[in-house]
Formats: sequence, C-alpha cells, structure tokens
Amino acid sequence: KPAAGFEGLKRISYEDIGGLKDELQRLRETIELPIRHPELFKTLGIEPPKGVLLYGPPGTGKTLIARAVANESGAHFISIAGPEVISKYYGESEQRLREVFEEANENAPSIIFIDELDSIAPKREDVTGEVERRVVAQLLTMMDGLEERGQVVVIGATNRLDAIDPALRRPGRFDREIEIGVPPTVDREEILNIHTRGMPLDETVRIDLIATQTHGFVGADLAALAREAAIRSLRRHLPMIDLEQESIPQEILDALKVTGNDFRE
Ligand code: ATP
Repeated sequence: KPAAGFEGLKRISYEDIGGLKDELQRLRETIELPIRHPELFKTLGIEPPKGVLLYGPPGTGKTLIARAVANESGAHFISIAGPEVISKYYGESEQRLREVFEEANENAPSIIFIDELDSIAPKREDVTGEVERRVVAQLLTMMDGLEERGQVVVIGATNRLDAIDPALRRPGRFDREIEIGVPPTVDREEILNIHTRGMPLDETVRIDLIATQTHGFVGADLAALAREAAIRSLRRHLPMIDLEQESIPQEILDALKVTGNDFRE
C-alpha cells in the first residue's frame, strides 16, 4: 500500500537527487548496508542503527533522499508526518504509531519516515505538551523494541535539531545525525539539470550561469524556478494557441522552448 502523501508519485532513485553526495553516502552506509548485508554487522558484533535524523532547512531534499534510499534498497517505505500522529483523542496517537511499526515489521525490510519529528517533541514549559509526551514515550518503546538486525529503520526529519527531545537522540534511538544543508553552486547546477531533464531547452540556456545566480536557493526553489520558466514559455505562446482546436500545431510545439529569458526574468 502506498505511503500516505506519496500516492501516484514516481519512484525516486539516486538519479533524482542533485548534490548531497556525502550525505547520501552516509545515509546509504547507515541504512542500505545493514538492510542488504546484515551479516557484516553480525560478524563485527555491532548493531546497525535504528534511527537516523536528517536535519536542515525546508526544501533541501530530506524527504527525497529518504525515499530514494528506501526504493534503491528495496525497502518498504512508510511516511508519516509528526503533526498527523498527534491526535487530541486519548490513546489514538499511540495507536497510530503502533500500526505504523506493525506495518513496518510485517513488510521488513522497511523504512519509517517521520517528517517534522520536532512536532512531537514535548514542549516543556507548556502543559498541553501531554499528548506529545505520550507520543515520544510510545515512539521510544517502539524503537527500543525493534529487532537489532537493522531491518526496520526510522528516519526522522526536522528543520530544528534543537527542538528534538533529547531522549530521542540517545544511543540506540536517533543516534545518527546527517545535516542536509542549503546547496552550493555545483549542487545547484546538478539540481537544475535534474529538474530541466525533460524540458526542451533553448541552446542559449546556460544552466551553469543560472546556478551561480541562485545563491540561497534550495532544491525546492530550483524545482519551482524550472517549472515557472516552462510556464512562462507556455504563456508567451498562448496567444497563438486556439483552445478550440483539436490539437496544437507542430510549429507551436517546436517553438515551445524554455529560453534563457524565461529563466532569467
Ligand atoms: P521539508 O523540510 O519542507 O519537508 P524536505 O527537505 O523534505 O523539506 P523535499 O520534500 O525532499 O524537502 O524537497 C521538495 C522538492 O524539492 C523535492 O520533491 C524535489 O523536487 C526538490 N528538491 C529538493 N532537494 C533536491 C535535490 N537535492 N535534488 C533534486 N531535487 C530536490
């Protein structure tokens, strides 16, 4: 059954991730290696990690990288969002978490992805943090109960590492942390190349230059930029398109190219 929120989305692979080479390498060692070769860890007498925290600003590819590792290691992927787990009805949140871990165990190897993990951090100064406290306790119980063969791994994502309950970050829980940061120029170029892969680009388009001009853009911004350029190109040609027509004439389809101008505007 497809994970919540990802219905109908295509399978993400390592090809779809721009930059993040070291981060991906670390995540693969931490998750894919124990899933594929549990015997390595058995021989060494060490336990593979049960939990990994991905942290960094929004839109930098945390969800993307988790989905890619799941797909490429053939693991069942279950995605939940922290706020979605928090239910105001007594006991429902814990029940939801139990179901998720049950599904993961039944379909192992599995990866449980918890987005916005910080939202289940109990707010200490806040009496209404009661639900969060119970959910954290339940999550700890479920993680402590995981079999130690690395066949079910929990990946948590957050924009605010300091907002994660310290109890969740102890050894045997989310004890690996990987920062997913804002991409540098070379990574932006790779991300732009990925998101313009299926677009007919005019030969005047210089992806390398656009990469240098988009300082501070994260992957989600660059994906939006490419989409916006394509839509502008479409808009420019719209006056020539007769909406009543059965099909669009080939010369318009040919002219429909993303130009340098559309990107720079
Ligand atoms: P949030 O903290 O808001 O959940 P996130 O870090 O999980 O953000 P994603 O959902 O993975 O971000 O990224 C959003 C979209 O941005 C992706 O679906 C993808 O289209 C694009 N994107 C982000 N980072 C990259 C990247 N490194 N390479 C290619 N595309 C990227």
